[in-house]
Amino acid sequence: MMPKFGSITNPSKNVLREIEEIGKMGFDFAEIGIEGPEGMPKVLMRKKDDIKKTLKKYGLFAIAHTAWWIELGTPHEKVRKAWVNESKEMIDTASELGVEKINFHFESNGMFIQTKKVRRLILKSFVASLQELVEYAEQRGLTVMLENGALKTEMSTLENYKYVLDNVEGLRAHLDFGHLIVAGGMENLKLFVRTFKRKLEHIHISDNYGVTDAHLPITVGLLDEKEIVKILKRIGYNKTITFEVFTKTRDLAKFSMEKFKELWKSE
Ligand SMILES: [Zn+2]
Repeated sequence: MMPKFGSITNPSKNVLREIEEIGKMGFDFAEIGIEGPEGMPKVLMRKKDDIKKTLKKYGLFAIAHTAWWIELGTPHEKVRKAWVNESKEMIDTASELGVEKINFHFESNGMFIQTKKVRRLILKSFVASLQELVEYAEQRGLTVMLENGALKTEMSTLENYKYVLDNVEGLRAHLDFGHLIVAGGMENLKLFVRTFKRKLEHIHISDNYGVTDAHLPITVGLLDEKEIVKILKRIGYNKTITFEVFTKTRDLAKFSMEKFKELWKSE
């Protein structure tokens, strides 16, 4: 069975128009950004009925994507708790929209892992925050996934990401292939897929030249889409893939999906 393919809403644009466009372009699902300004929980809640109606109109289902700069790993305990509470509100919002999975990011702002002591502080904070959120989400029928880091820092190493996944029961893996290419090319990507295949719940695909997370369409950069199709078929991956291609219009995300489907059928 082929995976399901989606496109992500731009949180700076009207969410209803974004879903409408995703539907018209033939995607299977919309990844809804629960992020300001247009994806703030209160905005989405106000538009809840229309969002559900629009999804239904195009036969789409939805999954939820939160902002990368949420500080679940901060050792500032009061700030961490505040972010956990904000995140619970995002889970509530996702639940109201009928979403079954939501991601959070493995990123750290300001404080980077340079010494063993800082590493322990940040990773421990992540584990505590995510354990609480996984349990909260489970009670509402949602799965929580952790997206691997985007920058070439300690937050993008396999060791640190694995530590959190190993220590939070029920937490699932969300691999961003663009991030993995920036951090170490196709070899790094293959290593992550091999390591986390059993927990793999969701994938982001976009291309780049290995320097920044450029969110380009597939076929232009270092991402080897043929090889990726082979690997995903080999592990029997049939869950969700979002083409996180950020260009002025959505047609290059559509192009990426169509190209990928073609390869899937022919490989
Ligand atoms: Zn991503």
